[in-house]
Amino acid sequence: MIKFLDLKLINKRFENELKNEFDNFLGAGQYILGSQVECFEKEFANYCDTHFCIGVSSGLDALQLIFEAYKVLGLLNEGDEVIVPANTYIASILAISNTKLVPILIEPNIDTFNLDINKIELAITKKTKAILGVHLYGQLYDVDGLERIAKQHNLLLIEDAAQAHGAIYKDGRKAGNVSNAAAFSFYPTKNLGALGDAGAVTTDNKELAETIYKLRNYGRTSSYENGIKGYNCRLDELQAAFLRIKLKHLDVDNHKRRAIAKYYIEHIKTKNIILPLNKDINQHVFHLFVIRSKKRDELKDYLYKNGVETLIHYPLATHKQLAYKELGDFKFSVTEQLHEEVLSLPLNPVLKSKEIKKIVEVVNTY
Ligand SMILES: *Cc1c(COP(=O)(O)O)cnc(C)c1O
Repeated sequence: MIKFLDLKLINKRFENELKNEFDNFLGAGQYILGSQVECFEKEFANYCDTHFCIGVSSGLDALQLIFEAYKVLGLLNEGDEVIVPANTYIASILAISNTKLVPILIEPNIDTFNLDINKIELAITKKTKAILGVHLYGQLYDVDGLERIAKQHNLLLIEDAAQAHGAIYKDGRKAGNVSNAAAFSFYPTKNLGALGDAGAVTTDNKELAETIYKLRNYGRTSSYENGIKGYNCRLDELQAAFLRIKLKHLDVDNHKRRAIAKYYIEHIKTKNIILPLNKDINQHVFHLFVIRSKKRDELKDYLYKNGVETLIHYPLATHKQLAYKELGDFKFSVTEQLHEEVLSLPLNPVLKSKEIKKIVEVVNTY
């Protein structure tokens, strides 16, 4: 069986370095907010070409801290509306409602899976204050389009970059640097994955960064003073040390992902399967390779019986989840169609060439 993703193999490649860093960490005796976090923040800000990076405990926390910080700065208020794609992972939408803002779900473009620019302006009201764009599956959203709308309507533009570490826009800007503030997740399965939970915020905004540094650590302004009400959302020193090792390999890994995607796109030739649309390979880091089929469940079973494990991202739209029963009456036909048709093929930097060939063969015999 070709596994969808073998995390053990992903990390095995760095076994010696990881063990070494663990020994250093154990010996240093500084377990929270030490030099590893500081160094990682510098290195990741440098990687994204932003002035600031704030290491935090997860991708969800990164998103929530951005919203909370904008509330502290007076740019967002409880009840403000935030535009978000309806087909994103539930975490993007949770971050909005958990911080007492109101998610306004917008349909994606069926070919790119990202926000449909033409549907945003119709949804803007007096209460709309921000757009949370998501680079779903690793492909940048329409950067020009979202920047234009945000500027025209005086909205904050926030980026959910949890799936897009290293994607590059045509003007050279990277994911994490095409908005006012971006949230990253380093969940173990992501293109840059820790060995546990971890996340980060990147931004050029000094005030916002300073507010998030405080918010992630109880709102502390100095050792025993708390200027604002904060949280405990710190990035672990050990995870930061691991992330520093893996960051050095991110571009090589993304390069491998793109090469596999290119191979799939050139060699998969099956009727009734729609391959992902990709106009510019640099704007995509193929966190996931998502195909579409009207007979998705049948295809999934066929692939599994023939030794290829696939996953569905995601089986049930957020507005159909019990947790969001208040959105249950909404109808998002593109989103619902996508949730019925999408299927993710294995694509990761430890796939062997014979596995890649076999995946194509099996798909092509369906
Ligand atoms: C993974 C992910 C998140 C949440 O990240 P965690 O680290 O699991 O909290 C948010 N948004 C998207 C699009 C994701 O893929």
